[in-house]
Amino acid sequence: MQHYPESMNRLIRSLSRLPGIGTKSAERLAMHILQAPDAEVAMLAKHISELKDQVSICSSCFALSDGQRCRICRDPERDAGVVCVVESPADLAAIEKSSAFQGVYHVLQGLLSPMDGIGPADIRVAELVKKVSKGTVREVIVATATNIEGEATATYITNQLKPFTVKITRIASGVPMGGELKYVDQVTLKKALEARYDF
Ligand SMILES: [Zn+2]
Repeated sequence: MQHYPESMNRLIRSLSRLPGIGTKSAERLAMHILQAPDAEVAMLAKHISELKDQVSICSSCFALSDGQRCRICRDPERDAGVVCVVESPADLAAIEKSSAFQGVYHVLQGLLSPMDGIGPADIRVAELVKKVSKGTVREVIVATATNIEGEATATYITNQLKPFTVKITRIASGVPMGGELKYVDQVTLKKALEARYDF
């Protein structure tokens, strides 16, 4: 790195702090930025600095938002009676990309993990219970991961919502489309058999 001017080294160090970017990739990115047209670089810098100023958390579903309420919560076409509970904004984005869901979301901003000291107060469960207690939610789809933390969180949420007359569903897990049975792990196969449907 001593072969570069100090301003170049500073950028390489900053870029290499990003997830998945090692020093080699950071060097390549810095070199690309150096050689890119001024307008393109100015745009990149502008978008990075605007991100922290303009992105906030939706007051209703806790997703990333560009206003007090996010685009999905503001959309009158979305069914506010069906709430899909996800761990993170990235999970929300994944479901949105599938175009398979027309309801709204509730972003927990984490999963229960006693080993890491993350308890119910650290994630947005109380806000979900409050939302459901108002009586306008018909169904809560628990779409947390199928790992230990995701399952524990799903169980906790189900217990918290028991006092209310709301349908609680869990996303199905099973054999991936295009997947061969012999490569599927035993737990997934067991779940797939349990969740079998009439054909
Ligand atoms: Zn929202």
